Formats: sequence, structure tokens, C-alpha cells
Amino acid sequence: MTTVSTTATTLAEIPLVDLKAQYAPLKDEMLAAIANVLDGMHLFLGPEQRDFEQEFAAFCGTSQCIGVSNGTDAIELALRALGIGAGDEVITQPNSFIATGEAISAVGAIPIFVDVNEATSTLDPTLLEAKITPRTKAIIPVHLYGRPADMPAILAIAEPRGIPVIEDASQAHGAEIDGQRVGSFGTLATFSFYFSKNLGAYGEAGAVTTNDPDLAARVRLYRDHGSQVRYHHEVVGRNARMDEIQAAILRIKLRHLPEWNVARRDRAAVLTAALAGTSLTLPVPGGEHVREVFYVYAVRHPERDRLKAFLGERGINTGIHFPIPIHLQQAYADLGYTPGSYPVTERLSNEILSLPMYAELTDEQIARIAAAVREFDAAGA
Ligand SMILES: *Cc1c(COP(=O)(O)O)cnc(C)c1O
Repeated sequence: MTTVSTTATTLAEIPLVDLKAQYAPLKDEMLAAIANVLDGMHLFLGPEQRDFEQEFAAFCGTSQCIGVSNGTDAIELALRALGIGAGDEVITQPNSFIATGEAISAVGAIPIFVDVNEATSTLDPTLLEAKITPRTKAIIPVHLYGRPADMPAILAIAEPRGIPVIEDASQAHGAEIDGQRVGSFGTLATFSFYFSKNLGAYGEAGAVTTNDPDLAARVRLYRDHGSQVRYHHEVVGRNARMDEIQAAILRIKLRHLPEWNVARRDRAAVLTAALAGTSLTLPVPGGEHVREVFYVYAVRHPERDRLKAFLGERGINTGIHFPIPIHLQQAYADLGYTPGSYPVTERLSNEILSLPMYAELTDEQIARIAAAVREFDAAGA
């Protein structure tokens, strides 16, 4: 019990996300694309961003895409484009990255939370109606872990009431429901290209998608200081543009995203098979209508912290998405929530553990992860 096996310590670490493995085969193409941007010295609002916007809109199945500075700003700009501001209520789920709440707060609106379905970790549509008030101005479901939220059920509640839906698709580039990609269901959708996401930049970047040209024009306006003509500012906007180097990098990666997502699904299936019969609660399959993209492979265990430490000692890096729900963050203490407010989210936050997940994860690495979990089970028995 006190000895750490020497074989374990001499094996290479298994990272949570392996960006070097993804970069290696793309290196020459990446460096050439970056050099091309620098040779042209057109650094913002140039050809790379324009082409990326067209290519990413086509990927999502929307008519419009606006490249922006990051995924947090993408949500804020979508809210501003809808005219949402002080005193408005915006519904989202409490088990998201803080950014979803921050963007709502940034426009002066109040985040209202709806708990999630325990099997899917996404917004529970059966709890949605009870939280809608005359002040509800938008609903932001999050496609958490690469699993689409139940968009048909959410839209069936929102649309008759005229409430816009903004998909937070930051964790689900390419995920589908009945063959339709996320980013194309809501009034607007937002994406992050944070480095670890399924489509990640080598810096900060994000995007907004929509099929509404007028909303797209408003996002473009807010993205660039509220200005269409230089030094003429129609609204108080933001500096939230995507830069050309990131756009060039994203264009190269976007061509590989479909194959990476297929590989992630395959790696997830192999992990699930390898971990069968262990003490872990494994991700519940999304079902025949849903195609997940496994941004995160989250398992559950009642002794999560002990398991995390055990795996860490064996060079297996894990994460927690997310350990503290938004409503219990210190930043949101003024909202007055106490533990017990959102029981499903809170239970999940105590038990979830994200295992290594990336397209290049090898069978051998998966075997090591499964062996370590079985060793943990045997030690605890
Ligand atoms: C990553 C993420 C964001 C924020 O994206 P940034 O690009 O880091 O600003 C927003 N929402 C969710 C669900 C995310 O996972």
C-alpha cells in the first residue's frame, strides 16, 4: 500500500489532452500558414478570418459565422445582439464553465439556473418551464462534454414563448442530433477555440453561428467597437475580433476535425469496453439520435478524490469538469445560493472525474488506465 510500483513511475505520463501529438504531423503546414499571415501583415479582419467564417458556417450547417476573440466573448456578443441587458433573466445550467455565467453577468443580466439530467449532464428540459418568467430573455443550454443538449425538447418550450435559445457549443464542435450539427439549432450558437477544445487555436479565439443575417450583422458590429465605418461608432461595442494567425491555424485544424471526432468516439468506445466491470460509473451512451464528440470522457466514482490521486501516482492525468458549480462559486455569492439548491449538479460535481481523452490516445494507454483502475478496485476491496 505504501509503495508506488517502479514500473509505474518509469512509464511516460498519460496527459489529459495531448496537443503535441496533434501538432507533430501538422507542424510544417502550420508554420507555413503563420508565415503567410506575417508576410502579408494583414493581422485582423482579413482573408483568413473571412474564409474560416465561411468554412465553419458550412461545417455547422448555418448561413452565418462570426469569428471572435474567445468563447466567453462569443456568448456576450450573442446576448448583446439580442438586446439583452440590465435586469433581464437568462437561463442556463449550473454545471458549466464559469464563462457561461460571466457572459450573462457582463451584459448586466441575471443568471437563472436549471439543474441537469443526471444521465446526460445537460439541461433537464422537464425543469425548464418552472424557471421561465416574463423577464426570461434567453435560454443557454450547454452541450457539455461533447454531448448535445436535448435541443428538440428545449426548443419546444422556448419557441412558442418567443424566447431565443443560444447554444453554448464550446465543448461540442461537430456533435449531431439526427444528423444535424450543433450550432444550427438555436437562434444563435457560440463556440470556444480554447486550446484544449475539440477545435483549438494556439491562442484565444471563438465564434458565433446563426442563420439570421440581421443578428449576424449585430454580432459583427459589437465585435468591432460598434463600428462599421472607421471612427463612427453606432453602439457601445467591444474589441472582440479573431486575429488572422488564429484563423489560419483554425482553418488547417478544421479540415481534420471530422476525423478527430471519429477517433474520439472510437477511443471512448475502447475506454468504455476496457473499464467495463470496474467500480466506475461510465458515461451513459447518447442513443441512436445523438452523435457525441467526447470533448471530455467523464466517469463517476463515490471516492473520486482518492481515485484521482491513485491514478496521478501512476502517471495518469485526470481532470474535473467542474468541481464547483457556478451557483456555489464565490464570485456568485451575492446570488445567495446554498448547497442543496441544485442537487443533481452538486452530486455530479463531487463524483465526476475526466479521464485522458484525445484522438491520438493509444490502445496501450487505455490498457494502462484500465489496469490502474482495476488495481484501485483490488486495493479497496
Ligand atoms: C471553454 C468554454 C467557454 C469559454 O471559452 P473561452 O474561449 O475560454 O472564453 C464557455 N463555455 C463553455 C461550456 C466552455 O467549455
